[in-house]
Formats: sequence, C-alpha cells, structure tokens
Amino acid sequence: MSNIDFFRQKLSEFSKRAFQRRLVGGTGGNLSVRIPDTDTVLITPTGISLGDVEPEENILVGLEGEVLDSPKGLKGTKEAGFHLAAYRLRPDVGAIAHVHPPYATAYSNKEKPLPLVTVSARLNLKHVPCIECFPPGSPELRDCVIEGIINNPEVNSLLMKEHGILCMGRDLRHAYYLADLAEDTAKIAYIAATIPDTK
Ligand SMILES: [Zn+2]
Repeated sequence: MSNIDFFRQKLSEFSKRAFQRRLVGGTGGNLSVRIPDTDTVLITPTGISLGDVEPEENILVGLEGEVLDSPKGLKGTKEAGFHLAAYRLRPDVGAIAHVHPPYATAYSNKEKPLPLVTVSARLNLKHVPCIECFPPGSPELRDCVIEGIINNPEVNSLLMKEHGILCMGRDLRHAYYLADLAEDTAKIAYIAATIPDTK
C-alpha cells in the first residue's frame, strides 16, 4: 500500500469516527491530513457525510488548492480554503478536524473562549478562542480563521461562532482527540453550570 493510500484509509476511518461520535451531523464538517514531508494534503469531499466517506473519495490537493488526484472525480470540501491556510501558516500541523459538535457549538454563540472547566482540558486544549461568524465556504470565513491563527499562534483549537470548532493536531489521531475533548469539555461546563450552589 502506498503512503497516500494509507492516509486515504486513515482519513476515512477518522471521518467515520467523528460522525459516529456525533461530532457532526448531515453532510457537515470536514477532515484533512498532510502527507508527511510533502506539500500535499488529503481532504474529505463536499456533499458526502463524514459517516460515509470511502478512502478513494478523499481528494489529494496541493497547498494552494490545486487538485492532484480525485479518483472518483469529486470536489473537495468548500472549507478547503481554511484547512490549506492553516497548513501553510503552521508547519507543525499534520491534520485538521473541523466539526459541528452540539455543546461546543452552543458555547461558540457566546462569543467567548470555550470554558476549560477540567484539568485535562486546560492541559490539552490550553486556550480555545472564538472567532467571528461568516458564511461557510466564504473567503471571509477563511480570512477570519487565518486571523485567528495568526493572533493566537499557540492554540490548537478555535471555536467558530454559530458554526463549530476547528482542531489542528500533530496527526489525525491528535486532531480527533482535540475535537472529542473540546466537546466533552463543553458538555461538562454546561452540566456544571446547571448544578445549584449548595453553600
Ligand atoms: Zn463547518
């Protein structure tokens, strides 16, 4: 199996995990992975649920968005612009999970950083600022993500107002773990906020 085929399989595997974990519903969300030591990225297609993405449906693109290989002739996600911008800006980023998990997305509407209410969240997520809302796939949203990354060079995750979350990991496993932890953290913050103070 070639290196690219291996990552096609891994990208499908983590896309399906994200859907099954309900980090995203419908045909929303998109994942990508940088082929190590290259300027190429595999990215999920537009119009197909992450729960259904097969390895050969993922699309190989260059860092400027040029399509290099799409065996099924599919188009890449309309959010490819901010994925590729993140790879260009952050050489340490090996994979990206952009999903719409309910609790984290609900907190995004508050236009504040995600409340990191557990030790694990503070250790692993460090700081999750919130960026502005623009239509999905728009150049404005891409530019807003770019600004969020430039203004917060230490972060691995960004809340996207009224939209979802963007998690940048060392590899696919790490990006998935960040999204998983962010959603659990938001859920715990919500539950904690509903428990009455007994003092
Ligand atoms: Zn989205």
